[in-house]
Amino acid sequence: MPQSALERFLRYARIDTQSQDDSETYPSTKKQFDLLNLLLAELKEIGVSDATIDQYGYVMGTIPSTLPDSHPARGRVPVVGFIAHVDTSPSASGADVKPQVIRNYQGGDIVLPGDSSVVIREKENPELEKNKGKTIVTSDGTTLLGADDKAGLAIIMAAAERLLADPSIPHGDIRIAFTPDEEIGAGTRHFDLKKFGAAYAYTLDGDTPGELNKETFSANLAVITVTGRNIHPGTAKGIMVNSIRAMADIIARMPKDIAPETTEGYEPYIHPHALEGAEAKSTLKILLRDFRTPGLDVLRQKLEEIIAEVRPLHPKATIELKIIEQYRNMKDHMGSDTRLLDYLWEATSRAGLEPRWVPILGGTDGSRLTEKGLPTPNIFTGGQNYHGPTEWLSVWGMDKSVETVLHLVQLWAEQS
Ligand SMILES: [Zn+2]
Repeated sequence: MPQSALERFLRYARIDTQSQDDSETYPSTKKQFDLLNLLLAELKEIGVSDATIDQYGYVMGTIPSTLPDSHPARGRVPVVGFIAHVDTSPSASGADVKPQVIRNYQGGDIVLPGDSSVVIREKENPELEKNKGKTIVTSDGTTLLGADDKAGLAIIMAAAERLLADPSIPHGDIRIAFTPDEEIGAGTRHFDLKKFGAAYAYTLDGDTPGELNKETFSANLAVITVTGRNIHPGTAKGIMVNSIRAMADIIARMPKDIAPETTEGYEPYIHPHALEGAEAKSTLKILLRDFRTPGLDVLRQKLEEIIAEVRPLHPKATIELKIIEQYRNMKDHMGSDTRLLDYLWEATSRAGLEPRWVPILGGTDGSRLTEKGLPTPNIFTGGQNYHGPTEWLSVWGMDKSVETVLHLVQLWAEQS
């Protein structure tokens, strides 16, 4: 009997794989190897005989084509990859996760048993309604659940097991990759595209069933540094240049209508998100986000205008602006071959769902892979409320995602 995605998910969710922002190592935390090594062993167990793990933790393996040599598509079907990440977000604890399986969910708010102040509310979770009578999984309220992205791992593993168990399902060569450190924006840093060898790929790292992603933000990080001069306050008159005061004037001028708190959908924003300061030096990190990549220059110009306005107010302070490129809208590099997206759409409807393209207000490993030459849109997994203790998973949604993957590989074989 093949294992259900749920059985697999529950096993993976209990393993702490939190990644860590300020780490010097790769992967950022050693414990991610616990799950990466388990996945390697499980791949071998289900028959992925060439499965490997490299020094960085990337697990890769192949499900060989089932097309006979005589098949007209043999040799024409491109190698298609499926990718998910093992790490969980640093923004909530991922240690000692206790998944709560609620079978035959009857509706209503869900009070989590480990902390009764943590409630998954029906009115904040429209997706709950669709899961009445179905199975959902939550954490106990003291940790995140880790459906982001252990649901993705479980989906790929369950689909792989089904494909290997049933050679009558027609498909080309399929590559699988499990990656570390996605949550800290480093999931593709050492990803060996050549070794992976896929022409197209999909990440299983979305959420609501039916939702597909082919667009992400384009993203730059702006860093404003104000340098002042510090001296003991007792002898400061006419000498001290307090960088904090200049920084405060800059922050006060940040446009409030171009902020994540006041925008949605395709609207761009300037988001001051980390501040450090003392008299001598203050640093502000600002996220610049726009779906249109040239729009990032407009946002930079706004910051330059603010700085130009503040400089004369603090003539003895030095104000510098640095722009660091982060990632680009995957749509910019998706290429002209529409099969990648058309088959995904068709596979989702064959799984009995209504497919929808939804822009991601963020980046994915897929945005970076697409930019590097491997077009990689993103597929739903059934998870909700990521990165916090109210995270929950629709098992129905996860199973629909497995079905979508199975239809998808067949579509590539049928239509090529
Ligand atoms: Zn994720």
